[in-house]
Amino acid sequence: KRLEELNVADTTCGYCAVGCRFDLYSDGEEILAARPTEDEDAPINGISTCVKGKFGYDFINSDDRLTAPLVRDESGQFREATWDEALSRVADGLGEIRDTHGGEALSVIASSKATNEENYLMGKFARQVLQTNSIDNCNRLCHSSTVAALGQTYGYGAASISTDDLEIADCILLTGSNTTEAHPVLATQIKQNVRDGADLLVFDPREIQMAEYASQYTQVKPGYDAVWINGITRYIIEHDLYDETFVAEQTTGFEEVQESVEEFTPDRVEKITGVSHDEIASAAEMIADADGCVFGWTLGLTEHSHGTENVIAMANLAAITGNLGKPGAGVSPFRGQNNVQGGGGDMGPLPDNFPGYQDIADDDVRAKFEDAWDCEIDPEYGYYTTQMFLEAAEDNIRGMYIIGENSALSEPGVNHAEDVLENLDFLVVQDLFVTETAKYADVVLPASSFVEKTGTFTNTDRTVQMVNKVMEPKGDSRPDWIILQELANRMGRSWDYDSTAEVMDEINSLTPIYGGVSHERVKENGGLQWPCWDMDHPGTVRLYEDEFNTDNGKVNLKGVGYSEPAETPTEEYPLTLTTGRVLYQYHTGTMTHREEGIMQYNPSDFVEINPATAAGMGISGGDPVRIESRRGETVVPAQITDRVGPENVFVPIHFTESAINRLTDEEHLDPTAATPEYKVSAVRVEPA
Ligand code: SF4
Repeated sequence: KRLEELNVADTTCGYCAVGCRFDLYSDGEEILAARPTEDEDAPINGISTCVKGKFGYDFINSDDRLTAPLVRDESGQFREATWDEALSRVADGLGEIRDTHGGEALSVIASSKATNEENYLMGKFARQVLQTNSIDNCNRLCHSSTVAALGQTYGYGAASISTDDLEIADCILLTGSNTTEAHPVLATQIKQNVRDGADLLVFDPREIQMAEYASQYTQVKPGYDAVWINGITRYIIEHDLYDETFVAEQTTGFEEVQESVEEFTPDRVEKITGVSHDEIASAAEMIADADGCVFGWTLGLTEHSHGTENVIAMANLAAITGNLGKPGAGVSPFRGQNNVQGGGGDMGPLPDNFPGYQDIADDDVRAKFEDAWDCEIDPEYGYYTTQMFLEAAEDNIRGMYIIGENSALSEPGVNHAEDVLENLDFLVVQDLFVTETAKYADVVLPASSFVEKTGTFTNTDRTVQMVNKVMEPKGDSRPDWIILQELANRMGRSWDYDSTAEVMDEINSLTPIYGGVSHERVKENGGLQWPCWDMDHPGTVRLYEDEFNTDNGKVNLKGVGYSEPAETPTEEYPLTLTTGRVLYQYHTGTMTHREEGIMQYNPSDFVEINPATAAGMGISGGDPVRIESRRGETVVPAQITDRVGPENVFVPIHFTESAINRLTDEEHLDPTAATPEYKVSAVRVEPA
């Protein structure tokens, strides 16, 4: 069919949080084409979308897409059920636990793939209907340490920049971000800027593709980032390269930082991390010489038992060099999942915050939500995702409602997570497929994908954009917001939203940073960046141009030292495992494993091993290799490459068969943000 004959909708990508906008074309059955938007107001335009945004739609019409609810029959097998039966079972199952053990025995894992409006309703459902504050989402597994650290220092736990700043910065420091593969369109923006003369500094344990474009690539030891970052800060202070005016006028705590970095002498930094004095000095000089520097990172910096400490060190460095609140400068934690910024954070499906990061322990804030939602809300924080699994093992959590999250592959220590899921009194999973997690459920509710509904996503630079329906929900699947509304009403409430636009109007009335966000305005403006205070506010392109969102309006610099990773190599487990993404796949593969073209390019897992390490073990490329940690083992083929150092191995996170999170650690969490240490696991490797 010709494009003009197809249904078309201008929508936002459902994969990563770059938030590419494009027109999707459908014949009502399948998505047949994606074309970049012509809307000049879209935050990312003029750059072609990546392979997933262009071609990644087979999953929508996949043969194994759930088209009806499933319930377990008496023999323990799933059978199809009507919505009426399935919703009754869920209402009874969750209601019985709430009424017998209290709402605190229930938890909800919300979905950063779902829209803002749906995540708002997930939070409301947890607090109002289930009477629990134990609601969280995948941000706990990735950037929650960023949110905590930037919240403490600057006030907002989000990127200060717009993605356009990546194109005009004089210098970009990237760490723990395999940008080409995880955020391909941002990588294109950075590469274009480098071609135009910007400096690029890459600090990473793997010699990723961005290293080819770098003025300086430094291979770092996983788990010691605060050390080299503090080393750069020390050099900058020692050589009077910091921005004295900015520090004097816009920060507090400079002396504390000065004192705390004193121990990070060049010799000590080199001894701990292997990063040389020259590398520290040249990086410091490049940052200091630049008119503007953007500091970009992803999970290599955050997924540690001390991720918050790492990000505070980075926040200090950006602040003392005056790289905040001006064009081409700022901090940019590249968010992962399409709507983890909005759905995973801004909308408050969190154990400690309401929408807009309003603290549930604050009496006035809590009273506002109790009044709006007509319920009492416990001032005690609930459990974070990672804690939910530990608490469930102790029977403190007895029932879970998991929406669009594949915890049986994504949680740290999957063997432990599987035991927990198996032993819950009641588990309901809402998803597009019978995922590895749904296999443990009592009831599985079939949800609609993002092309089958309307709402908003918020991308990595805080831009709220429309998601527009291009085809009807497959079979009898339903959008998450409709399922939640029906369930809330079965459990004694009377929700009566006619559309997600109405839900957004409730959000903007309760959430100051979204105060001026409505569907109408998002459409008119091609997107709105929060904070957007009222219906006349244009949105905020760049944070902190006037002041910081702290009590004193300044950056609260904080001295940080460094902590060892929870596991360091031993004779028994001599190597360090890190994990991450590859371009063609996405998270646990629920979407990309159903893409024929993508699976041709990248059908299975691998472990990257340094040639010297492999030679010492008699391992050749393609050989099956057993990787074992204290928690589990897996077997994957070897890929011999000097991209990784001799002490490290790397395995992607995407594959069911290898389930690399069997090896990661569920117990050692960041003390502030409860982020797990996915990026450092002590392992041994041998031919299988
Ligand atoms: Fe989608 Fe991210 Fe690719 Fe853009 S870069 S098309 S948002 S996956």
